[in-house]
Amino acid sequence: MKLEHKNISENNFEQCTKCTICTLYCPMVEVNPLYPGPKQSGPDGERYRLKEPMYYDEGLNYCLNCKRCEISCPSGVRIGDIIALAKVRNRKGLPTVRDMLLSSTVSVGSVATRMSGLVNRSLESERFRRGLESMVGIDHRHTLPRYAEESFEEWFRREAAEKQSCYSRRVSYFHGCYANYNDPALGRELVEVLNAVGYGVRLLEGERCCGMVKIANGRKERAMRDAKRNLVAIRRAVAEGDKVVATSSSCTFALRDEYQYLLGLDNEDVKDSITLITRFLFRQWERGNIKFAFREDFRMRVAYHSACHIERLGWAIYSTSLLRLVPGLELEMLPSRCCGMAGTYGFKRENYDYSQAIGRPLFDLIEASGAEVVATDCESCKWNIERSTSKRVMHPLSILAAALDMERTRELNGVMDK
Ligand code: SF4
Ligand code: SF4
Repeated sequence: MKLEHKNISENNFEQCTKCTICTLYCPMVEVNPLYPGPKQSGPDGERYRLKEPMYYDEGLNYCLNCKRCEISCPSGVRIGDIIALAKVRNRKGLPTVRDMLLSSTVSVGSVATRMSGLVNRSLESERFRRGLESMVGIDHRHTLPRYAEESFEEWFRREAAEKQSCYSRRVSYFHGCYANYNDPALGRELVEVLNAVGYGVRLLEGERCCGMVKIANGRKERAMRDAKRNLVAIRRAVAEGDKVVATSSSCTFALRDEYQYLLGLDNEDVKDSITLITRFLFRQWERGNIKFAFREDFRMRVAYHSACHIERLGWAIYSTSLLRLVPGLELEMLPSRCCGMAGTYGFKRENYDYSQAIGRPLFDLIEASGAEVVATDCESCKWNIERSTSKRVMHPLSILAAALDMERTRELNGVMDK
């Protein structure tokens, strides 16, 4: 079903009982007195905007789309979606060069991996970053993620693709732009762990960026084009019996929820087949379908940060439950707070100070935690926490891969050496 974006609200603002609970949970309200807050920007403002678009308030641009207001709302109002759609409807003019750069993850990533030495050296240089700030408005105080020398897809096609048909069970992997261009090791770990428990992996043919950053940067039409292509690829994989697993909690949330509520695309037929890798592994383990053998010498003190979109999915429990299976791993749950990054939001000069002010209480808790490593399922939280604290940040899957005795795991799952 295609939803129309004219004169009606696609969302359920009428359900608002004006309790103001959402305002208490909004991280932007805490740090920015100029932000009208979720109730006023969302259901209250929507009533006026539907009567007369001139009531649109540019203050809505402060919203991070973290969805923490939605989690808190006792009436189930999709406040973040109402705000995001109002921003899309009222956006004037073309996206800026900065917004194009930040949201062209595939074009920029494919060029940057080919020139990764030069690109990474430039991004490390404060002089270069100051130039970037004055030319396009990316704040020089933020460090942009490094690029890998080779993309995950290139590695997979060269080293892994052929072997995958040997496994009796299979999943399709939505790697996303981050694992492909910035952290291919995460993709390699996914293949290694899934192979060890008896699953072959294949890539989604024609995978595009999930579209989250394009929606956030005013490029809804391009996001729609990518989303439609992704749904074609996902439908093909699901029709062939695969679950589609992703490592990024934000990509997973986009494929499952943002496609439906922000792009108006009907994905109900495949939604339940799209899942996060930690959820997939924990559920298979819980059902006795797979087994893990852990290294006896593995020790790690981990603090888990629940990213906003995994909170909205309600799936942090799967990542933490998986980590709790690891003997020798001490797990501490950090209080659930936004880190302030919100994809590309925190890179922008006009947002940087608000972004860091939102993240500061979390960064202080992390420094005080005594953990060696912070675990999170979101890449943008990883960038922000690593640049703002002294801690290393790892995906829960990377921690699992480091803790597993791969040889014994393969034996336990009846996997012969391939
Ligand atoms: S999505 Fe986040 S920043 Fe936006 S109104 Fe809701 S809680 Fe506030
Ligand atoms: S929490 Fe929900 S019901 Fe309460 S004011 Fe906010 S949107 Fe309305």
